[in-house]
Amino acid sequence: STTTATPDSAAGYVQRIYSEVQQRDPQEHEFHQAVKEILDCLVPVLERHSKYMQQGILERLVEPERTISFRVPWVDDSGTTRVNRGFRVQFNSAIGPYKGGLRFHPSVYLGIIKFLGFEQIFKNSLTGLPLGGGKGGSDFDPKDKSDQEIMRFTQSFMTELYRHIGTDTDVPAGDIGVGAREIGYMFGQYKRIHGGHAAGILTGKGLLYGGSLARKEATGYGCVYFVQEMLGAQGMSFKDSRVVVSGSGNVSIYAIEKAQQLGALVVACSDSGGYIHDPQGINLDTVKRLKEVERLRISEYVKEHPHAEYIEGCDGIWSLPCDIALPCATQNELDLASAQTLILNGVKAIGEGANMPSTLEAIGLFLENDVLFAPAKAANAGGVAVSGLEMTQNSMRLAWSFDEVDQKLHQIMSSIYRSAVDAADEYGVPGNLVAGANIAGFLKVADAMLAQGIV
Ligand code: GLU
Repeated sequence: STTTATPDSAAGYVQRIYSEVQQRDPQEHEFHQAVKEILDCLVPVLERHSKYMQQGILERLVEPERTISFRVPWVDDSGTTRVNRGFRVQFNSAIGPYKGGLRFHPSVYLGIIKFLGFEQIFKNSLTGLPLGGGKGGSDFDPKDKSDQEIMRFTQSFMTELYRHIGTDTDVPAGDIGVGAREIGYMFGQYKRIHGGHAAGILTGKGLLYGGSLARKEATGYGCVYFVQEMLGAQGMSFKDSRVVVSGSGNVSIYAIEKAQQLGALVVACSDSGGYIHDPQGINLDTVKRLKEVERLRISEYVKEHPHAEYIEGCDGIWSLPCDIALPCATQNELDLASAQTLILNGVKAIGEGANMPSTLEAIGLFLENDVLFAPAKAANAGGVAVSGLEMTQNSMRLAWSFDEVDQKLHQIMSSIYRSAVDAADEYGVPGNLVAGANIAGFLKVADAMLAQGIV
């Protein structure tokens, strides 16, 4: 248990909260990292407004409102019974129902889901939509599983999850390992258990049953829209720039698509096995077919484009010279050494499409070297923003056109950029979008928590 101390200085308060988080769950390194990044940025806010310290806002923010862990039994194609662990962390509902994706990946444990859920609170706040923060997932590995195995697993997962979610309580979506296929199977199972067609129970649905146009594109497009704003403020743009994008999943593919539409030359992308370097520019039709349809490895790309190179291992992608780097794969994929190499090679801007892709040391180095840096909570908020718009369309029982959703997405990304710039100015760290995004995201949630009393 923690007590709310009043005599702390802002820096002392933050340090105490951080130590308590570390001591309480010592193994959850990714969660500690996410908490540290936020807390360090909040010191100037706490110095100016002691009300957040007096009412224990940080003590309450770092502890999930509810943590659910459950067994997911399923039968594989050989008839063997398998058991995975499922999670849903309902982190904060101050400004809306819990909202956030589900991740299926062998690296998933509570610490990963907590870091993602914690980030989601501030990201969702930044979108300006009424969405609280949550996240879920499983240590299930979808790689090399048959379609039948995926269906049995997702049905079993939803058989437990259904009792914890609802259109006004908690609305999951996809993340790594969970795309339209998995959402479809989970939606079917939810409908069967719960009865009735509650379209707004999940987002990222297929277009035939309540999905939103531009949801698939939203995270990648949104990331590029955000970076476009950041570049534009310095008189730069994507046009004729050289871009490296890690990953080849949903975020990466649509970041590449939008960057190419804006006239960039995208020379690389990757998957967990390695990366491809195509100096003529990535052929996105090939990547889409390999990844979205055939579910193959990115190494297959060079069979069709023999002038391109496939290199095993992932870190090397950051040694390719580029103007703009968009890490769109996974957490901590860009460390201090990679940041040093990027800077030596003259990188001008970083846009984080994945969640927490840069280590704290890498972020520090980028900021010190005046590399334009678009932090994940702001830059990848387009996905959850369009999820919010999907919920709106579901409630209204209508569907907006692609252009209408895309325009709204663009407006939201511009307004997130503005909020981050303004908050950074106001709290004495001009140009630091990491601090700006964290402060702007925090203030809305913290003020809503104050208004609702100690709950
Ligand atoms: N998983 C995505 C994210 O990290 C989207 C969440 C959602 O659409 O609810 O923001």
